[in-house]
Amino acid sequence: MKYLDLKAQYTEMAGEINSAISRVITNCSFIGGEEVKTFENEFKKKFEAPYFVSCGNGTDALFIALKAAGIQSGDEVITTAISWISTSEVISLAGAKPVFIDIDDYYCINADKIEEKINSKTKAIIPVHFYGQTCDMDKINRIAKKHKLLVIEDCAQAHLSEYNGIKSGLMGDFGTFSFYPGKNLGAYGDAGGLIVRDYNYYKRCKMFANHGMYEKRHLHIIEGMNSRMDGIQAAILSVKLNYIVEWTEKRIKIAKLYDKYLSEIENIIIPKIRPNSKHSYHVYAIKATKRDQLKDFLTKNNIETSIHYPNALPFMPCYEHMSLKKDDFINAFSLSNTELSLPIYPEMREEQVKVVADMIIKFYENINNF
Ligand SMILES: *Cc1c(COP(=O)(O)O)cnc(C)c1O
Repeated sequence: MKYLDLKAQYTEMAGEINSAISRVITNCSFIGGEEVKTFENEFKKKFEAPYFVSCGNGTDALFIALKAAGIQSGDEVITTAISWISTSEVISLAGAKPVFIDIDDYYCINADKIEEKINSKTKAIIPVHFYGQTCDMDKINRIAKKHKLLVIEDCAQAHLSEYNGIKSGLMGDFGTFSFYPGKNLGAYGDAGGLIVRDYNYYKRCKMFANHGMYEKRHLHIIEGMNSRMDGIQAAILSVKLNYIVEWTEKRIKIAKLYDKYLSEIENIIIPKIRPNSKHSYHVYAIKATKRDQLKDFLTKNNIETSIHYPNALPFMPCYEHMSLKKDDFINAFSLSNTELSLPIYPEMREEQVKVVADMIIKFYENINNF
């Protein structure tokens, strides 16, 4: 069994996808153009976004937000200790310094530890809605307001997640998305975009993503970069956008099944749900005793799993110069050593969930042999 079966999804919608792709090729609408405009408008509607800018990928989306916000050398940006590297590398790329905070019980940035890291250099916070679960946005927004910081929500794993009934990406100043093929809304190549709340920031993002031009070609108002969505990805994403609500519900259903089958196992911690929030289960993450042995056992029994992520950011070689201490990131360290991501995708069948759960139960019944 695959961890993520993209082929199953394609098979269900091959006709629609193929005709979208050939339409783009027939119209030679390769970069930007009508297909991208259509996707941007449809995304805005579905995600209730005031403004939305498409771009090349989710990493660029974060970078564009930081640049539009004026983040520069000498600044500090606060973020979580465990995420995909994009979240912190773009801070350095913008010339600023990433400041890491340990995670809470929901595996997101611990909002109670943010304030102690704020100083006169701090300019922004990047909360990551990790695995598909939203951060404690009330607390984060309260802190941001008090200290006049910008909030950039990293929604790469959290399409249509909610907090207090509000969709991810709508609570901060910016909400960045990845449409990497494996994400909950995935293109057939790299693609990304960002929700922007303020019109002036929107304009800056749009300019920055396309060489500093705004509406008029060959007039470069600022220096920017080339980070544009291509027509084929936009056309594919427009098709998939019609299914994202249904797919999210299916993920939640699968997660509930896992919860039911696994909740009694002593050696496992199933995901906790933050009160008043909706988890979109990009990842169904358990914390497991003897994680590596369990992973091997599942692999031997043809069940593919994944680890998100085996190293927390403060302990990566690229941040060695910061000399960060394990004691300050106990939860992130523990997660990276015990987390296991179980197969989850909308097309997964209920019997398959049971097969995974049974195999995990079998492992722990024989745990002394491992
Ligand atoms: C995937 C991901 C990104 C980066 O997205 P790309 O489209 O791969 O550049 C950023 N942040 C998080 C949390 C992610 O999971």
